[in-house]
Amino acid sequence: SAAIHIIGGGLAGSEAAWQIARQDVPVILHEMRPVRQTPAHRTGELAELVCSNSFRADDPEASAIGILHREMRRLDSVIMAAADAHKLPAGGALAVDRAGFSGSVTAKIAAHPLIEIIRGEIDGPPPKDWDNVIVATGPLTSPSLAAAVGALTGERDLAFYDAIAPVAERSSIDMGKAWLQSRYDKAGPAGTGADYINCPLTKEQYYAFVDALLAAEKIEFREFEDTPYFNGCLPIEVMAERGRETLRHGPMKPFGLTNPHAPSVKPYAVVQLRQDNALGTLYNMVGFQTKLKHHAQVEIFRTIPGLEGANFVRLGGLHRNTFLNSPKLLDQALRLKADPRLRFAGQITGCEGYVESAAIGLIAGRAAAAERNGELFRPLPPTTALGALVNHITGGHIEVIDAGPPSFQPMNINFGLFPPLAGQIKSPGGKRLRGGEKAAAKKVAMSARAAEDLEAWLGGQAILAAE
Ligand code: FAD
Repeated sequence: SAAIHIIGGGLAGSEAAWQIARQDVPVILHEMRPVRQTPAHRTGELAELVCSNSFRADDPEASAIGILHREMRRLDSVIMAAADAHKLPAGGALAVDRAGFSGSVTAKIAAHPLIEIIRGEIDGPPPKDWDNVIVATGPLTSPSLAAAVGALTGERDLAFYDAIAPVAERSSIDMGKAWLQSRYDKAGPAGTGADYINCPLTKEQYYAFVDALLAAEKIEFREFEDTPYFNGCLPIEVMAERGRETLRHGPMKPFGLTNPHAPSVKPYAVVQLRQDNALGTLYNMVGFQTKLKHHAQVEIFRTIPGLEGANFVRLGGLHRNTFLNSPKLLDQALRLKADPRLRFAGQITGCEGYVESAAIGLIAGRAAAAERNGELFRPLPPTTALGALVNHITGGHIEVIDAGPPSFQPMNINFGLFPPLAGQIKSPGGKRLRGGEKAAAKKVAMSARAAEDLEAWLGGQAILAAE
């Protein structure tokens, strides 16, 4: 049969190539390095790790990423095999020798008789006679290809940055000063009308806050990051530079809110925090993406009334990251709805992390090979880590509202992406569990459910293949 073309030989593209070839379908893998480098890569090897050498936690009974590792090993992942062969001591984490790792992926892909590697940039839309294509060019997709993708998707649905707002522990917020309320008490589809934590600022406090932002130390953008900002996610310090009142008309607007601690005093500005995890233990600061240095963030945000003792579990950031508004653009098989011969994989689809990128490459590769072989590819169950990740990216059953800038943000695999368990978690003795014990038991149960459902899916695929 005719070859499937993959653009990009990173974590996702390498895994996709491997998965396609093991279904006896030929692959042509186009990788621009070392002819052309990205701003972060240093070598010409496939699957180069651009930063840390960790694949994160490996325990499938305690972490969602551990479940993803287990599933990928089960599906013969070339990325996991290379990681296991080159692992380094790192406690419960899977860390790898980076040169050994990417060298081994490169050798396996290069040696496969069904895979041809072509070194060179694809600098425009994929040629019309390529009927089955996977685009896996990553967060640093070359500018000319990004422009071609933008033309296909519409500019508004291709982002060049991800914007991370700080996250604080709910229990560390002083509710003697803050209060729960949604703007104009709007309940929304999943809300109660009191979904936000609001922190009020007086005029003096607001101006002091703006001055502190302007004076604070910022992390300089690296030279490769100087593309224009995506309009929906300006950093707060950039907004402050545009005018002293800009933040008050943006994320800090005080309208539609009444402070129950002082109903007669209108706040001059309000900082809102929104629930960040299903448990309700974490809240993120709405619209507070920032490039301030971490110590400056902690110092300045603790001047906000209610946040004096805030414990920040994550601080804000902004990174160069080319990614699609996938829930709107891609179908369940990761194809571009507007041009289904193009499939996307890896970080460009809006997953986050080495393992997640490879995981989406694995799914895209299997789906593309099935299509080429005229077979049906059934989606992975959403109770598996692979299925949960695909569901997050493609929007699952969630209705996608086309209004304003895309709110879709890249995410690592986490237990919040899995459907809840049916029924109560009990100890082996039948006792109801609480607190930490219950959280741990829940992870074990979700892990067992994922393993069982993956086996059932594999059984179904085998029957389909035999027919
Ligand atoms: P990549 O691995 O980047 O692969 C894309 C490939 O496509 C590259 O080899 C590139 O050369 C090639 N390419 C691009 N354009 C073209 C073109 N037009 N034609 C042909 N080839 C092309 N994740 C972590 O888990 N841990 C980290 O520490 C981490 N650090 C990161 C640091 C930075 C600076 C960045 C940008 C990302 C980081 N990530 C990290 C996120 C992410 O996991 C990695 O970027 C990961 O490599 C993504 O995998 P991918 O296959 O989607 O893209």
